[in-house]
Amino acid sequence: MAGNYNLTSQLKKHFGFDKFKGNQEAIIINLLNGNDTFVLMPTGGGKSLCYQLPSLLMEGTAIVISPLIALMKNQVDAMRHFSEEDGVAHFINSSLNKSAIDQVKSDIVSGKTKLLYVAPESLTKDEYVEFLRDVKISFYAVDEAHCISEWGHDFRPEYRRIRPIINEIGKAPVIALTATATPKVQHDIQKNLGMVDAQVFKSSFNRPNLYYEVRSKTNNVDKDIIKFIKNNTAKSGIIYCLSRKKVEELAEILQANEINARAYHAGMDSATRTQNQDDFLMEKTDVIVATIAFGMGIDKPDVRYVIHYDIPKSLEGYYQETGRAGRDGGEGRCITFYTNKDLQKLEKFMQGKPVAEQEIGKQLLLETAAYAESSICRRKSLLHYFGEEYLEENCGNCDNCLNPKKQVEAQELLCAAIEAIIAVKENFKTDYIIDILQGRETSEVQAQMHDELEVFGSGMGEEDKVWNAVIRQALIGGYLSKDVEHYGILKVTSAGHKFLKKPQPFKITEDNDFEEVEEETPARGGGSCAVDPALYSMLKDLRKKMSKKLGVPPYVIFQDPSLEAMATIYPVTLEELQNIPGVGAGKAKRYGSEFCVLIKKHCEENEIERPEDLRVRTVANKSKMKVSIIQAVDRKVALDDIALSKGIEFGDLLEEVEAIVYSGTKLNIDYFLNEIMDEDHLLDIYDYFKESTTDKIDDALEELGPDFTEDEVRLVRIKFISEMAN
Ligand code: ADP
Ligand code: MG
Repeated sequence: MAGNYNLTSQLKKHFGFDKFKGNQEAIIINLLNGNDTFVLMPTGGGKSLCYQLPSLLMEGTAIVISPLIALMKNQVDAMRHFSEEDGVAHFINSSLNKSAIDQVKSDIVSGKTKLLYVAPESLTKDEYVEFLRDVKISFYAVDEAHCISEWGHDFRPEYRRIRPIINEIGKAPVIALTATATPKVQHDIQKNLGMVDAQVFKSSFNRPNLYYEVRSKTNNVDKDIIKFIKNNTAKSGIIYCLSRKKVEELAEILQANEINARAYHAGMDSATRTQNQDDFLMEKTDVIVATIAFGMGIDKPDVRYVIHYDIPKSLEGYYQETGRAGRDGGEGRCITFYTNKDLQKLEKFMQGKPVAEQEIGKQLLLETAAYAESSICRRKSLLHYFGEEYLEENCGNCDNCLNPKKQVEAQELLCAAIEAIIAVKENFKTDYIIDILQGRETSEVQAQMHDELEVFGSGMGEEDKVWNAVIRQALIGGYLSKDVEHYGILKVTSAGHKFLKKPQPFKITEDNDFEEVEEETPARGGGSCAVDPALYSMLKDLRKKMSKKLGVPPYVIFQDPSLEAMATIYPVTLEELQNIPGVGAGKAKRYGSEFCVLIKKHCEENEIERPEDLRVRTVANKSKMKVSIIQAVDRKVALDDIALSKGIEFGDLLEEVEAIVYSGTKLNIDYFLNEIMDEDHLLDIYDYFKESTTDKIDDALEELGPDFTEDEVRLVRIKFISEMAN
């Protein structure tokens, strides 16, 4: 059938393109031949064309299921652009009124419509199913097919109903398309859509121009980001944060440091949000600080960096978001700030969700941790995660390849791990295998009676960290695999069995040690970390002189790390000096002026350009407000009076107070609570928070019922957090 068309000329005729991209042509031929087809192609690879062109060539109407209503309209407009017939493409979703729907139906019946885009929740409506049963369907396209799987990054339950509905409307070939699918997700999609035998077309997911780096997230993360941006002025960049609050805070800090940054998150009013997005696209602003709500369908080709302030919840998300850098094939730096604490926080957020969902979330977090902590090639890890083998020894474009760690032989360790996995009948996940190797008598180990196994405790000579590295690298090396039905369970592959029979050299690199680098000033025996060693030694001399004069030990004046910082960022006023770690207002005043004079002189004599812009200015007004609220509460001023005197709404005051207690400061507001609430009422709310797994106000209001007001619940929550958490 496909042979009847000259596909390239059809491509030219309908879309104006001269040739196919990647394996578009093979995909289209497969579909034209009536076969189920599965397409894995990175974003921007040209997936839409894989169903658009066939729909024009085949008899009947193609049904395209896509989750994004906004994008749907764009696609339909684009198709109409290519055709003389407006009715060639239509969409059905909840935004259409009755007469628009009648128009769509009449175009379909008269055979004008080749492509019908449908939102999954509309497809399930009886009215449409009934109508479509009498329509000749050429094929079904399921775009963003990862939405089918709970293991994907955007699970949508309606997607699970696609197969039964296809069966009701009438069978036709199915083409499923996605830009991110791990082998597990791919398996779920094919199984759920009943297309296990589909031909799979998988393009490489490698993006050679993207540079991947994971940095330890220290207290200096804001400073690191400011420095990075200042070294990359006039380049477009996106900074992703997990929370809306962080987005706003960081945008404010960047602005206070003369960086033209804008915020973007779903909680902003839509006019500002759209404005900020447009400013970014029009290059009125270089940097956008955003939650992951930003980026869908945004096609700015020259984003030069993507920074993750917080580690994403899954590598799918990470890959999608980093993928927005360097789409034109040019520079694209992807930098992630990582601390395991952030992952623990994410895990806590999941509490309260159904257990199965939590378990999935946890496994995805573990994969993220493995990626971040591993010292093997980032590209290799990522591609492996998406089921692709990357064979280069050194990719030359990630932090781990640019600073390779020493490798150590781990042949015997791998044998021990494989033996342990086999001994527990290939039925357990990594953590459990490590418990066995370490000989830990956990309750589960005892319940399984695995403490009686010969392998129990066989790996006690090594730390967990090493075993983690062995297992991860054995997965990447193909000696082990993770079960796709029961995700996370370790299996030994045939290569693994062979290895056990006839061990080969197996080198591993130890994981990156994030705890060690997390210290503010790395202890590098002897040497200092000052950028300007000459100045550093002059500062040390000055300190010695003053210590003699004042009769106090040198470290009482300033400690070494403070001097190192001074010899790096050159503060010349007392105010600037207070930005140095370990220097507060008192110290600056008492000892600072001679140091400032010395630094100033040194800068002038050596014509040093001070990296003044590296200083992180705090958002002063904001903290001033907090300080004065704390003082007023200490003086037992009624909260409504505080709001009045600050000229803010009571709700806004509560927000400030919440921020204060959530950031760890104790505030006693009992004097106010006792005045405005009766005791039983207060206790009911307090007890609720004690029992509850969440501190969400909405949940509390729902549970507590209409007798309680939002303000009351918030006030008691403040008391609770202040007392329990601080
Ligand atoms: P995806 O859905 O895979 O992210 P799209 O289908 O949106 O990608 O296509 C990305 C871009 O590539 C679009 O601008 C599209 O017009 C363009 N494109 C697709 N196929 C071709 C082709 N054969 N030649 C040139 N451009 C193409
Ligand atoms: Mg697409």
